[in-house]
Amino acid sequence: NVGKISLEQIDPLSAKSFPLCMRQLHKALRENHHLRHGGRMQYGLFLKGIGLTLDQALQFWRAEFVKGKVDADKFDKAYAYSIRHMFGKEGKRTDYTPYSCMKVILSNPPSQGDYHGCPFRHSDPELLKQKLQSFKISPAGINQILELVKGMHYQLACQKYFELTHGIEDSGFSLNHPNQYFVESQRLLT
Ligand code: SF4
Repeated sequence: NVGKISLEQIDPLSAKSFPLCMRQLHKALRENHHLRHGGRMQYGLFLKGIGLTLDQALQFWRAEFVKGKVDADKFDKAYAYSIRHMFGKEGKRTDYTPYSCMKVILSNPPSQGDYHGCPFRHSDPELLKQKLQSFKISPAGINQILELVKGMHYQLACQKYFELTHGIEDSGFSLNHPNQYFVESQRLLT
């Protein structure tokens, strides 16, 4: 699926087909013109997984970062390497795979100023509620999600979010990966 996405599609896709973790990272990147390392890894690998090429990824991150405090020269010196690295073009040339839900949920919890992680696991329930309200999830739907979160069923809470945002009763899959979420969403919408 490499090269199937254009950069212009990322904004609309983030609202329609990204899981909440990636929607949150995308929004933070657009607003702050920056993401810290944990966010760049989680989001960058996800974008690679949905089909961004290395050239597109460099263009995407550079365009956003230069709107903030980083100029193109600094970007090329300080950040381009880690993006090429993600695509296996630097260092040990490992072709890194996008993180699974379990990895996001269990490792590297976000601290202040971070936007990575799983919002169902790592957001304060009150903040999660506000976030869901801002994304126009119904009050009944929000309650269902918060109940699942309370029971520590984070992936089921995410699946519920999928069902609510796609207007379906039963997602019919068992969620274990943010990229799976994307694929299942695109299957329904295209
Ligand atoms: Fe992302 Fe998985 Fe958490 Fe959903 S359950 S928000 S896909 S990490």
